[in-house]
Amino acid sequence: MSRLVMKFGGTSVADLERIRRVARLVNAEVQAGHQVAVVVSAMAGKTNELVAWTDGAGPAAPGLTPSDDEYDVVVASGEQVTAGLLAMTLRNMGLPARSWMGWQIPIIADDAHGRARIDDIQPEKLGAAMDAGEVAVIAGFQGVTRDGRIATLGRGGSDTSAVAIAAALGAPCDIYTDVDGVYTTDPRIESKARKLAKVSYEEMLEMASLGAKVLQTRSVELAMAYKVPVRVLSSFVEPGEAPGQGTIVCDEEEIVEKRIVSGVAYSRDEAKISLFGLPDHPGVSSAIFGALADANVNVDMIVQSHARTADTANMEFTVGKRDAQRAVEIVRAAQPQIGFDDVAVNEDVAKVSVIGVGMRSHTGVAKSMFQALAEKGVNIQVISTSEIKISVLIDAAYTELAVRALHAAYGLDQL
Ligand code: ADP
Ligand code: ASP
Ligand code: MG
Repeated sequence: MSRLVMKFGGTSVADLERIRRVARLVNAEVQAGHQVAVVVSAMAGKTNELVAWTDGAGPAAPGLTPSDDEYDVVVASGEQVTAGLLAMTLRNMGLPARSWMGWQIPIIADDAHGRARIDDIQPEKLGAAMDAGEVAVIAGFQGVTRDGRIATLGRGGSDTSAVAIAAALGAPCDIYTDVDGVYTTDPRIESKARKLAKVSYEEMLEMASLGAKVLQTRSVELAMAYKVPVRVLSSFVEPGEAPGQGTIVCDEEEIVEKRIVSGVAYSRDEAKISLFGLPDHPGVSSAIFGALADANVNVDMIVQSHARTADTANMEFTVGKRDAQRAVEIVRAAQPQIGFDDVAVNEDVAKVSVIGVGMRSHTGVAKSMFQALAEKGVNIQVISTSEIKISVLIDAAYTELAVRALHAAYGLDQL
């Protein structure tokens, strides 16, 4: 019998009625002859509530023991509830089922609490239960460290749980969510967004890492590395209502129709830090980014330019919003050693990106991007490119305008 992993996100299990619909979708796959492992998220909003409680309990003051491990104990609990409820619902439908927490499988994770990575999955017990005809209902988002502590996989991490389990079981992975596939851009921002029938792992990876939260970035990395066939589907349907729909995430070679640009993504989780009057000599960048790296601050875009004054330069770089104040403190602490004039931070910025494998072989993509933004009066603050994407940093107030302008400029509403 073939195995199948089905994953349901927070809105898909938001209440008992939706959990019953999930159970019907699972039952349909069981009746179709699959051995099913289901991965569930916490009910919509639950993880945010749990995170707020941990904020309320307070971060450790300097000198006290930090509680990142206990943060994970709290926030992992939302998935335990939905796994239990879905297993109960399946049993009430007459299907043998049981819940599995990360530690029971086990899903071994590293000890980077709050953003742990999966090191290993030992699927033997899980596989044996599935062979015996039981539906395995797995709490997403959580694993266990080698010394037995609960670890969570970062926000959106149930996608990663699902793909990792699929890789370990040698099964395909269906990700059920509140949209019926991967679109050319976030359909909540641009109603003209089109569903992509297929998208390559590489494009999906860029889209996810540039802000399209429909799949967690790490889940796409795993799918690509282990060649897991992934489909993104709507859970808001009854079994059999939308056969064959959704988006298939697959190898580029499997996509016949070639597009230059496949999607537009945006992220508001950005902050820009500007340093003025830096001495213009070797070692300055190394001192700045070395200090940030030592503090685990992730830096994304970087630009440096000559200042008017001789022998000085200005530099701008971006970090995640939640790291902004920490980054400024780190840079300030290094000011005597580096010797710059001033530092400023701007949190009202957003990154908008266009993604497409066709960029490798076509010129003019950047030109169209800059032209479309200029026509709407959107000023570009920083630009960065890679082989298959171009990103610009803009004033956050223009995010939606920019996304829609770019979506139209590349004809994505006509696909
Ligand atoms: P889940 O709770 O099921 O994991 P998420 O909220 O994490 O769902 O992801 C689904 C959301 O991703 C959609 O509701 C949509 O607003 C957003 N999204 C952003 N970009 C895209 C895109 N390109 N295609 C589809 N959805 C997208
Ligand atoms: N419940 C977790 C979160 O909200 C994990 C997930 O939904 O994928 O981030
Ligand atoms: Mg998600």
